[in-house]
Amino acid sequence: MEINGYTRVCGLIGNPVEHTMSPAIHAYLAEHTDKNLTYVPLPVEEGQLEQAVRGAYALNLLGLNITIPYKSAVIESLDKLDQMAEQIGAVNTLVRTEHGYKGFNTDMEGLFRGMCEDRVEVLHRKAVIIGAGGVARAVAILLASKGAKEIILINRTKSRADILVQELRKKYPDLSVQSMAIADCTELPGEEKYLAIQATNVGMYPNVDQTAIANPSFYKKIEVGYDLIFNPLDTRFMKLVSANGGRAYNGLKMLVYQAIIAYELWTGCEISDELARETYAYVLEKMHS
Ligand code: NAP
Repeated sequence: MEINGYTRVCGLIGNPVEHTMSPAIHAYLAEHTDKNLTYVPLPVEEGQLEQAVRGAYALNLLGLNITIPYKSAVIESLDKLDQMAEQIGAVNTLVRTEHGYKGFNTDMEGLFRGMCEDRVEVLHRKAVIIGAGGVARAVAILLASKGAKEIILINRTKSRADILVQELRKKYPDLSVQSMAIADCTELPGEEKYLAIQATNVGMYPNVDQTAIANPSFYKKIEVGYDLIFNPLDTRFMKLVSANGGRAYNGLKMLVYQAIIAYELWTGCEISDELARETYAYVLEKMHS
């Protein structure tokens, strides 16, 4: 794409931002929707976030993504907040509006769109989430808001999961939610099989032989398992899910869909299912190269 006087700029604020796939995804989308748009990494030092967001608005940047460590802190610098982002308390996409940026959480919308495409039901479902960090919390809120009937949180530090359980009980009084220690992971209650979301960083490259839950008996109760990790593409968690008869997915679709939803919000164009599939194939090919 030729950059000229009409080129609109989007970017990624975070620290670090060097290893991001987002510029490649947005360049691909811009080329295939014929938009004069470019996307650049924008590293921001600690203490500079508010100035960075104000500066981006003053410089007429069309939209921004926000990554670690600013997904919650950026909320203070926004003019408006989407309802799901408000519930989650984390924002990864800023959309330009009349008086400032509006914050969205397309990470979770992206995960959900991927689940719908994979024909994974959340409504009335029993789910187990491994982890209790920022992403696990967001996943719990997503699943609760999409009608899951029961959520079990399994975390290495059980006290951290307990705090999240208290918060979820207050927010969703009809939801059955409890925490469990990793050592008790084979005691998932009931006969019905679970949807499992692996939301820790265990198993990520280069520690590809690791998994937060190694006991194979746990996996006998899992019907569908999502690992939010996408490097490697086939994690130890996924192998254990598959080996015990479950369907296993990695986090690459979530990555691609969070970008597609952000792109749609910024440009107002609708990405067809066909272009979404092509974008996913393009990113997959880049992962292999
Ligand atoms: P976080 O807040 O730092 O939480 C990390 C979680 O991992 C905690 O629950 C922690 O348990 C657990 N953990 C860490 N080391 C462990 C170990 N050795 N054994 C067992 N549990 C361990 O991180 P986060 O922001 O939630 O991110 C989690 C992951 O989500 C990331 O690593 C990334 O792979 C994934 N992610 C994917 C996408 C995507 O687009 N696909 C987007 C964002 C994030 P303790 O509480 O005991 O420390």
